[in-house]
Amino acid sequence: MPDPHVASSTFEGRHRLRAWLRPWAPRLAALMAVLIAMVAAPGVAPALGAVPAPPAAPPTGARSVIRIVAAENFYGDVARQVAGPDARIVSVLRNPASDPHLFQVDVPTARALAAADLLIYNGLYYDAWVPRLLSSMPSSTRRVIEVAALMHRQGADANPHLWYDPATMPALARALAAQLQQLDPAHASAYAQRLQRFLESMRPIDAQIAQLRRRYAGMPVTATEPVANYLTAAIGLTMRGQRFALAVMNDTEPGARETAAFERSLTERQVRVLIYNEQAGGSAIQRLVGLAHRSHVPVVGVTETEPPGLDYQQWTLMQLSALGRALSSSHP
Ligand SMILES: [Zn+2]
Repeated sequence: MPDPHVASSTFEGRHRLRAWLRPWAPRLAALMAVLIAMVAAPGVAPALGAVPAPPAAPPTGARSVIRIVAAENFYGDVARQVAGPDARIVSVLRNPASDPHLFQVDVPTARALAAADLLIYNGLYYDAWVPRLLSSMPSSTRRVIEVAALMHRQGADANPHLWYDPATMPALARALAAQLQQLDPAHASAYAQRLQRFLESMRPIDAQIAQLRRRYAGMPVTATEPVANYLTAAIGLTMRGQRFALAVMNDTEPGARETAAFERSLTERQVRVLIYNEQAGGSAIQRLVGLAHRSHVPVVGVTETEPPGLDYQQWTLMQLSALGRALSSSHP
């Protein structure tokens, strides 16, 4: 759905911290009213249009399955791999064809969050709707993992695309296993086993990063947005045009000089690869992709959201392979 607040920009709306606050206020107030109604009368659907029936309560006596909510599907996937059949997992952002930065919270999402035993979210304003919702429905039992806090990434300048950092998912898996073991001590050894399996399954990713690093460390590349920058940094690639990419991410118009320099890096082939965000394919970005093609600079598309049918490891290996192919086919 197009956002009127970004209509004046050539670029798609992205991490719009300031623009985000204004249109939200009335929507959030309406949502809060719904949530208060839910808390006041559990099981009674508030008088709203398309409110789904509340999930059936577990039969009394049965051990209730742990409910995990992940704001993003790549975190939900890691939770699935560590929790196995001992938890039910809901991922909120899971459509790689839509822009996660433009997500608008709805009643089913608020309900899912309200019912979560364990919540995982990214932080760094990537999913600012999560802390806002949480503050409106305090719980003494809900456990929360904020990945940015887990990885000690903070500040306005921190790149929010933390799941591209090869260190993030192993750390998250460890934190998840520890939380799940506390919530469900009866299955502690199963969580420990699945954690080990998960950590082992990440080794091919580390191996591929190390191989690319040996071949391509120091090579200049560029990106329309800093989506995969933690990964390119792990490979040792030199990222050019970062001010341009930050402007695109923050939905501010890149300056004329930055834009000209970015275009020149393609037309003069100062970079070996152009990485672009497939989930933010505005016309200005498409134009840069076209410019790269015409200049014979290989182009690699990355996504913010995990594609359906792939797990995190497969998705990351696929993107690393695409990057490796592009680097090997590129001529300085
Ligand atoms: Zn992004």
